[in-house]
Amino acid sequence: MVKECMVYDRVTVDNSGIVFNWAWARPVLGLEESNQVQQLIGLIDSLVPTSGKDRWCSKYDPNGIFSVASIKRILSAANRISPERAFEWNNWVPKKVGIVAWRAEMERMPTKNALAIRNIPVLDQMCVLCGEYVETCDHIFVLCHHAQTAWQNIAAWCKLPPVVAFGINDLLTLHEVSSGSRKKKKAIHAVVLVTFWSIWKMRNDAVFRQRIPNAMKMLDEIKSMAYLWVKNRSKEATLTWEEWSRFSFGG
Ligand SMILES: [Zn+2]
Repeated sequence: MVKECMVYDRVTVDNSGIVFNWAWARPVLGLEESNQVQQLIGLIDSLVPTSGKDRWCSKYDPNGIFSVASIKRILSAANRISPERAFEWNNWVPKKVGIVAWRAEMERMPTKNALAIRNIPVLDQMCVLCGEYVETCDHIFVLCHHAQTAWQNIAAWCKLPPVVAFGINDLLTLHEVSSGSRKKKKAIHAVVLVTFWSIWKMRNDAVFRQRIPNAMKMLDEIKSMAYLWVKNRSKEATLTWEEWSRFSFGG
């Protein structure tokens, strides 16, 4: 694929009209893709190329020059609704870990269902872990029985009552309704974020490496990864593995 090609590399005009010089990296496959090509041609068929040089142009700015300010103007005019509650970050785990839960809450993970909605061809939309339901964020992280097992294992380890969750938000607020010190609540929140990250990892291992989900292995991984992060990033340098394994976190 030639990403840097110019319009005149692909579109020329001769006596009979507009001529497309496609250079696809591979043949156009299947109905879905040929439909997309037809749609594309429909969109650009009425274009009349000018003889000037190709240049980038922003249609949201009167001068055609892209600026952050012009995008900001459009966004503020679009009447955005702010979310009910702001996502709570946790500096005891790395950003890349928190991002999974943050995106999941907004249903912005590239699940099969999300890809299909964006017209990206997927073979089927079924959850790769259970094979019984459509793969959405709510399913993968909350409703799938593999997720349910993971959350019950976490609850048992952290000495929490069995987790009753109907949506992602119920998991992200688990620490708020639990008893104990602020430190303990923050630790529970950190573990919850690591569990989101780990569930997505398990899902990817199943999709891309055909690995079979293993609940015990996953719990061990969550315990050890979360221990390393919490010990190094919190001011709990004295936290021992033994204390962590009992989830004894200062009361
Ligand atoms: Zn499932």
